[in-house]
Formats: sequence, C-alpha cells, structure tokens
Amino acid sequence: QQSTDAASQSQKAKARRKASKNVDFNLRNKMLETRQQLPIWSGRDALIQTIQANNIVVVLGETGSGKTTQLPQFLLESGIGGGLKIAVTQPRRVAAISLANRVSQETGTQLGSLVGYSVRFDDMSWKGTALKYMTDGMLMRELLSDQLLSQYGVIVIDEAHERTLRTDLILGTLKSIMQRRSNASLPPLKVVVMSATLDAEKFSTFFHSAPVLYVKGRQHPVRILNANEDVQDYMDGALKTIFQIHQSQPLPGDILVFLPGQEEINSLGASISMFADGAQLKHDIVILKLYASLSPQQQQKVFEAAPSNTRKIILATNVAETSITIAGVRHVIDSGLARERKFYTSNNGIGIDTLFVKPISKSSAMQRAGRAGREAAGVCYRLYTENTFLKLSKTTPPEIERTNLNFAILQLKAISEETYQQFEWLDEPSTEAIQQAHINLFGLGALDTHGIITDLGKKMAGMPLDPAIARILLSAQERECVSNILSLCALLSVDSPLFTSTNQDGDDATRERFASRHGDHIGLLNIWAAYGEVAAGGANADVKEWCSSNKISERTLRRAKDIRAQLEHQCRRMGMDVSLSTQDEEIILQCVLQGMFQNVALRQGDGTYRQIVNHGAVKIHPTSSLLNRKAPCIMYHELTLTTATYARTCSSIHPAWLRSVAFYNQREST
Ligand code: ADP
Ligand code: MG
Repeated sequence: QQSTDAASQSQKAKARRKASKNVDFNLRNKMLETRQQLPIWSGRDALIQTIQANNIVVVLGETGSGKTTQLPQFLLESGIGGGLKIAVTQPRRVAAISLANRVSQETGTQLGSLVGYSVRFDDMSWKGTALKYMTDGMLMRELLSDQLLSQYGVIVIDEAHERTLRTDLILGTLKSIMQRRSNASLPPLKVVVMSATLDAEKFSTFFHSAPVLYVKGRQHPVRILNANEDVQDYMDGALKTIFQIHQSQPLPGDILVFLPGQEEINSLGASISMFADGAQLKHDIVILKLYASLSPQQQQKVFEAAPSNTRKIILATNVAETSITIAGVRHVIDSGLARERKFYTSNNGIGIDTLFVKPISKSSAMQRAGRAGREAAGVCYRLYTENTFLKLSKTTPPEIERTNLNFAILQLKAISEETYQQFEWLDEPSTEAIQQAHINLFGLGALDTHGIITDLGKKMAGMPLDPAIARILLSAQERECVSNILSLCALLSVDSPLFTSTNQDGDDATRERFASRHGDHIGLLNIWAAYGEVAAGGANADVKEWCSSNKISERTLRRAKDIRAQLEHQCRRMGMDVSLSTQDEEIILQCVLQGMFQNVALRQGDGTYRQIVNHGAVKIHPTSSLLNRKAPCIMYHELTLTTATYARTCSSIHPAWLRSVAFYNQREST
C-alpha cells in the first residue's frame, strides 16, 4: 500500500513538474517574441563575432535597446567565455537585482540557478550560476580573494558612462588582469564595456583602441516643456504637474517623475495620495516607487501593467535614467536634481564625505527626457527653465573626482601592492588626493609609515564597509562591545528610521522618547533596543503598531536587521566574539570615534561649531537631539550641504577622548 502511495505521489510530482515546465515554456516563447523585437537582436551575429575575435570590445547603445538583458544571453548561448562564468556589473544594487530577475524569467530558469545576482548583503547565486549580475562593488570584493578572477570568462562592465568609483577601479584592474591571465594557464579574460552615451572613445583608447560597436536605438520624438521660471519648490511643482497631466491627457500614458532620493519620493508619494483623496479624478492612479533600498518584490511592481483605466505614476531616483526601462511611460517630469556624494578637500589635508542634492548634467537631463519616447511620442516637463538647462554642466564628472580615495587605495592595496603599483586610472586623481587618502588610512591604522597595508588594514578591506566603519567594528572587538557596535553600524548604513519629512511633530515626539543625553548614536541604539523588545514578543501586528505609533519606518529597521545579520556573520568568520556588549555608553562612543575622529567639531565662543580638521563652520542638523544643547564637542556621522553645512547624527563627546584614539590608531600602524 505504502509503496503504491509513494509511486502515485512521485507520478503526481512528475505531472506537476511537467505542467510547470509547460507554463514556463509558453511564457518564455512569448517573451522571446518581445525580445527579438529589441534593436540589439538585429546586431546579434556581428556582436558575437566581434567579441569572439577581440578580447575587449566597447558596446554603445541607447537605453532600452536590450544591451543589459540580451547581450549576456547571446554570450551564454554562443559559448563565449569557454564555460567559465559571465559577470555583468551594475553601479546600483536595485538594477542588478531587477535585471537578474528579468533575465532568469527570459531564460525560463529559477532566479539564482542559471542566472543570479550578487549585491552587498544579498547573494542570489551558487557555484553553478553561469550568468551573474552584480554590483561593481561586489566584483571588487571578489578580487580580494581571487586576483585573476579565475572563475570568469567574460566580464561585462555595464553603465560604464556613469563612471562610478568602483567601475573605474574595475576597469583599471582588468587591464592588468587581462595581461596577467595570458601569462597564467587560464583561458583569456574577455571584457565588454557597455555605455549609454557617446563617450566610447575614452574607453576604447584606454584599452588600446578596442573596437566599438553601436546598437541603434528606437526613439520617438519627445517634446520638451521648460518651466517659464525656475520652480522654487520642486516637490510642489511636481505635484501640480502630475495632476495637470493626469486630468488633461488621455490614457494610456504613464508618468515617470525623477526625484533626488528616497526621502523626496516617500514625501511626494504621501502628498499625491492626500491630494487624490479629495479630488475628482478622471481615472484611477497607482503610485509606484523605485529607489535603492526597496525589496526585490517591491521593485518588480513598477514593471507590472496597471489595472485598466488606471494611470501609473512612477516616482524614481536616477536609477530609471539609463539602468532600468519601464514600459508605458509617455510623460516625464524632471526635477533636475540628483543626490550625490562629494568629498571636500581642505587646506590642511583632511577631507570629509558629504551627501547633497545637486543639479544634474545636461546629458542626464537628455536621458531623463528620452524615457518619455520609448514607445510613442512623449513629453518631458522640466521643472526648470531653458536658461537653467543651458547652464548645466555637460556631463557629470566621474566619481573619482569628487570622492575620497580612502576606499579605492585601501582596496587596491588589499588586492596586492603590485595591483596598486600597476594600476592605471581612466582619469588620474590629483597627487594631493592620493596623499590625503594615505594620511587618512594611516590615521585609521590601515597603512604603516611606509604606506604598506597593515594586518588591520587588510581586515578593514575585507569588510563590506567604508574603511572608517570597519575601523569602528574592529575597535569594538578590542573594547568588548561588538554586539552594540554591530547594531549601530547597521543603523548607520541605512537611512534614518525616523520618518522625517511627513510629520515633523510626530518626529520630535519620537526623538524625545528615545533621546539620550549623549546624542543621536545612542538614541538610535535606544530605538533599536525598544524595537528588539517588541519584536521579541513575536506578534507581527504588534511590531507594525509600535512602528506606526512611533512614526518609525519598519522597513528601514528590517533592513538594518538584515544588514546586522550579515555583518555579524562576517565578524564571526573573522573570529570575533559577537556576543560581547556593554552598558557603558561612553565606551560605545569611543569606539565610534576611533573611525570617525575626523568628524569632530568644537563649539566656539559665539555658539557656532567649527570642524577640527579644517575649521569649517558646521551647524547641527535640526533633526538632531543635540540641537540647542550647547555640547562643547560633537562627533557626527556625516555632513549634508543645503543652505549651510549640517552635521547629521551627532553625539556629544569628551575632547580628551581624541588623544586616546590617536594613540590606539598609531599603535596599529607602527
Ligand atoms: P538597455 O540595457 O539597452 O538599456 P535592457 O536590456 O535593460 O536595455 O532592456 C530591454 C527591454 O527589457 C526594455 O524594453 C525593458 O523595458 C525590458 N525589461 C527589462 N527589465 C524588465 C522587467 N523586469 N520587466 C519587464 N520588462 C523588462
Ligand atoms: Mg542597460
């Protein structure tokens, strides 16, 4: 009896598998038809032949022509790469995840099997994954354990025009790897550089006049409507434009709005819902968001067709500029802004990373407008005047020109001193910037007095973190409070869990509830501890209720929890005792200071604050619990530049701690 049961069970399973295969097969066929209509398909043979014949090829093509999703499949199907893996790098995690998802559907395989992805804190691949979408940062990390990238037959550097720091680092490193691979007994490494704009010359020249292939795009005309005068409040401008379009323009025709970041996206999303509630709308609307920290499931929603008689309103960061194409868009609203990281250098040699909202370049503005004309003629509404457009810089300068080199130099030296010595930059940074990074890394104890990487430096490079944060975790090991610091580092890696832009009053109440006399770092840990207690109670509904009544983003805390788990895993692998914790809040702050000793400002006689490193003026950000507290010495996590330079996430520290920090760090380097 039992065995027949088992037999029928297995037969049923077989039938189910067959059925599911059939479904996949149909879906795949349908997708294949769509794919074959993409512009890149007509160039398939030429692409394959050229890549077969050359170890390095530059591919240029308009956004949406099928470069990222199709070309890697062509490589796979034609066996280029000699059975080794194919990597496709992306500057943004959200793009890597979404594209891997799409391509796994197109190949009719489960995500993580044939096609996978690997991004910071999330790996969806195994040793058999033949096609791996990954962030440029993850490929950098793989270089630490495999200098020749011996697992890979082809590396596709996508979105090269964005010139992120990590993409530049990979391009420079690949140049010497290709050389060294041909000396080792390994198949040659092929490199394909893909770019959306017309700057192929630079890449081609860098790789000894590599051949350039052009993929023709399909672009319908886009009418550009500039504002008559510069919009002072672009959020309000966007809101009005959205409803103007919605009420006057027929369906179909979705709206894509480009905003600087997550905060603005959430805030505008809330305003749209509020406005729509009381209004007589001609059609329904659905609001969709696209930014880095969304979960893969949430990201996928932007690709789903809207219900009938409904207009999609997609609020996105510049990830929708060239990395991700969304069908159905006919109207683009461009705020003209993006959030960017910039590194300020100062006279006495130490600089600080700052995040701020900045006007985009002309080429970004053109890309954004182009998104309206993928399927039919479209319109782009710029919330700025034509004159402002004309004054924009031509292109965005490469990240290497505006970021600190701490990370870059530490990574290259951690791969090997040889890698660092042989490294060729696409754009050579200034000698001062290189010197400064050496000083910073020496200050952190990562380099010795001869500029050679220390054991501590190697440990820091191996952690998926900014060198300063890595230093904080390592000092926590010494002071036996790894558990506290793990939580804090995870919280510092995500956006603030407090909703800031929607309900200012609610925020203040929450901030006070969890405030610490030491400031925001401990305040964050207080929120974390309270969240932990509620979560330990088990009921999901309780957690939700607690978060919403405290105006805290549950999603952000969940993401921090996720990151914490990954960091903990890393620390365990490095042999740290991750259970150690302390009640002594000053010890926690001293650990943080170990990595952040440059981010300190002193209160002056007139009540203002000045940074210790360059005496620049800073103000305490209005969201900080230290505002109006007159702390004599503060340490901050980052600076943001708006109308003034604001220090975010501030804590009050004792100036004397700075001396012991210097002692600890120098001891490591000598
Ligand atoms: P390119 O890299 O040249 O900009 P892509 O390969 O990214 O072009 O995109 C090709 C097409 O695939 C686009 O029309 C895009 O809309 C579609 N596509 C990409 N990802 C998805 C997805 N997750 N769902 C539906 N369509 C997608
Ligand atoms: Mg692409």
